[in-house]
Amino acid sequence: MAKKNQHIEKAILMNDTEIEYVLTDNPPRGGMKHTYFTPDRKFAIQFFNKEEDAENPQMHSRLENIVGLYNPTLAEEYGGAMGNTKETAAYFANLFCWPVALIKYPEFGVVCPTYPPNFFFGKHAVKSGVNLDMAGKDKKSRWFTSRAISKCLADDECGNFQTMLRLSISLARAVRRLHTAGLSHSDLSSNNVLIDPKTGTCVVIDIDSLVVPGVFPPEVAGTKGYIAPEVLETMDLPFDDPGRKLPCATTDLFALPVLLYEYLLKRHPLDGPKIYTTTSTEDDEYMQYGPMATFIENPHDTSNRPDDLQVTIHDLGPYLEKMFLQAFVEGMHDPEKRPTAAQWEKALVKTWDLLQPCPNSNCKAKWFVLHDVRNPVCPHCGTRLRADDVIHVRLKKPMRGRKGQWQQTGEINLYDNMPLFKWHFLANVYPDEKMQDRTMQAYISHQGSEWYLVNNALEGMLSPKGNLVPIGQAVWLRNGEMFPTSNQQDALLMEVVKG
Ligand SMILES: [Zn+2]
Repeated sequence: MAKKNQHIEKAILMNDTEIEYVLTDNPPRGGMKHTYFTPDRKFAIQFFNKEEDAENPQMHSRLENIVGLYNPTLAEEYGGAMGNTKETAAYFANLFCWPVALIKYPEFGVVCPTYPPNFFFGKHAVKSGVNLDMAGKDKKSRWFTSRAISKCLADDECGNFQTMLRLSISLARAVRRLHTAGLSHSDLSSNNVLIDPKTGTCVVIDIDSLVVPGVFPPEVAGTKGYIAPEVLETMDLPFDDPGRKLPCATTDLFALPVLLYEYLLKRHPLDGPKIYTTTSTEDDEYMQYGPMATFIENPHDTSNRPDDLQVTIHDLGPYLEKMFLQAFVEGMHDPEKRPTAAQWEKALVKTWDLLQPCPNSNCKAKWFVLHDVRNPVCPHCGTRLRADDVIHVRLKKPMRGRKGQWQQTGEINLYDNMPLFKWHFLANVYPDEKMQDRTMQAYISHQGSEWYLVNNALEGMLSPKGNLVPIGQAVWLRNGEMFPTSNQQDALLMEVVKG
């Protein structure tokens, strides 16, 4: 509700609709814009700080494209991105705070949805006794990736390894969606990705500096630690110098793994002990994040490696280890070698299937990637699993044109009460934005030293002997058994490997 001495103004959108907003004396001010809110606070009304930005035709053209043609949060039938359905639009509306309309009066401006309430800290955000006021602040990634701040936050605000992996998948998917459309974010950083580790969700904000095809790119300064080395290195060249490297998809592919590394390992991939030059702090930082940037876990050059690395990329399992090496060793100074967002998304999803709950109830991470079943130890706290608690299944799909031959498509670690979904039973089904059916098909039950697969909703489920398993019934998973999981045409084959 509007307080006294605030008054309601009217803005007019490009389509001549009126929208009301509450005019305040000191509106929140960012680098480029200041913000008012609609009386119900569902939308932010943003105007530019500088007249030249508000009147820049490139800015208008960029924003028109962002709100319409390239909008993944709006279905194609309503003027959004090509091929976008209502369902995929709804899915991406949760991952982006995407501008919904442009304002023409009283001046050029943007209407954005406000962030969902779970992206604001509540009253109990910090540990008791800590003198830090976070209540009402938005949950920028940097509060969680900065050691000084994150150690003050209440434990439940910080989530656990599983929720961090979940939001990492969402971020990779969001960037993949931009890149598939030919867009790039250009300023991805810990300031413009909000995360809620409690629920494992994230939202990408500050969309208006997106690089849109055919429109002159925005002059974005970037954020220290997330600017690709080649951009920092050429930043002093004139904007139109052909040698100047501007933000684009391959520079997003530097910032994305920096954020993922920070979420999963709680440290920055370039912040190590190495001193690059003693001439000045500024020069040293320039070398550290620019021409000399050295990954702290570079296996060939250990000059920047901290002494106390307890959990490393190796502990994140084979898929992510390979990706981080490709991004920060081969791709550090060779942008074309960096993994794509789609590759990150795939590797993160495969890693999700290797998750295992830590049996130590005091373990802060609560979950870990069990990548070596012969050495099942939580890297976060050192707790070892009992051999009886380790079981995994290999998923195989029929090879096209080769009857009776199967090809491995995935591997999953099982644990008690683990839910299994359609993509665990059917070939060519992926847990992405197109997959609307998220009904639990079956779950794992661990009793004594035995393991069972319980049918929850899977039509035509088969037992290892080939008998139909009705809903509510279970099959016994014995070591070495290999069987088609259902009588459906695209059914995957499951091979049980114990211990
Ligand atoms: Zn643990």
